[in-house]
Amino acid sequence: MQNKITILGLLLAIVFWIVDAFIYSLFSEQGITFLQSCFSPRGEEIWMRTFVVLLFLIFAAYTERLLVIIHNMTIELKKYHDRLEETINELKVENTERKQAIKELEELSTTDPLTSIYNRRKFNELLASEIERSKRYKTNLSIIMCDIDHFKKINDTFGHDVGDNALKVFSEKINNNLREVDMFARWGGEEFMILMPNSNIENASSVAEKLRKIIEETKVKKIDTFTASFGVTHLNEGDTTESLIKRVDEAMYKAKNSGRNKVERI
Ligand code: GH3
Ligand code: MG
Ligand code: MG
Repeated sequence: MQNKITILGLLLAIVFWIVDAFIYSLFSEQGITFLQSCFSPRGEEIWMRTFVVLLFLIFAAYTERLLVIIHNMTIELKKYHDRLEETINELKVENTERKQAIKELEELSTTDPLTSIYNRRKFNELLASEIERSKRYKTNLSIIMCDIDHFKKINDTFGHDVGDNALKVFSEKINNNLREVDMFARWGGEEFMILMPNSNIENASSVAEKLRKIIEETKVKKIDTFTASFGVTHLNEGDTTESLIKRVDEAMYKAKNSGRNKVERI
């Protein structure tokens, strides 16, 4: 590139020199003298002409340098721009990955790995905020606790894997039969909780009864059928998360003590 521009500059200078001499010789009397003097080593003007040509050459050389510098700067700028774009893209990917990792972590910390429903930690969070909301807006809030009956026997008879599968089937069945607004979580082992905003104890009890029947009629590989006991309670004035959970637990044990596969409410 640099060589090409240098040669171009020289050629331009020579062409300029010749054309200039020609024009000068054609349109003036001194021109003819000058033309003669051009070919004479004693001519005075030839030095002036040479000086002009040299100036032109220097100018051409500097112009060429300037062009080379601009050209190099453009290349550098392009490289810098490309690197910047690369860095921005890397940052974008990193940011997406970080967001994804945070989402996965959040899911891990709030989801039960076996059943993919909320875990106890998340349920406690939801319960606290729903209690607050119910108290503020004076709305109903009901809670159902369910526990699979004789689950230890299922494990002992058919093995832990069959027990795990029963837990999954149980969760799916319950989940598919709740409203969008209801919140379903694994409380621990074979115990589950359902939080029902804007539901009074009558509604919650009939939902629990519907779920009890669905579970009773569900067939599970190897086990055939199994049942669950349900406890239901409703948020009262002055209730805390602890008092509400204690009461629903009592209701569930009432169902166990009255023969299992039952719904009891307190
Ligand atoms: P009840 O009708 O009184 O509720 O009796 P139960 O046998 O269901 O209750 P118990 O508390 O005696 O036994 C619960 C069993 O659940 C014991 C435990 O090994 C089993 N279990 C807890 N978590 C899991 C799990 O994730 N997978 C399997 N397969 N079993 C589990
Ligand atoms: Mg049980
Ligand atoms: Mg239990």
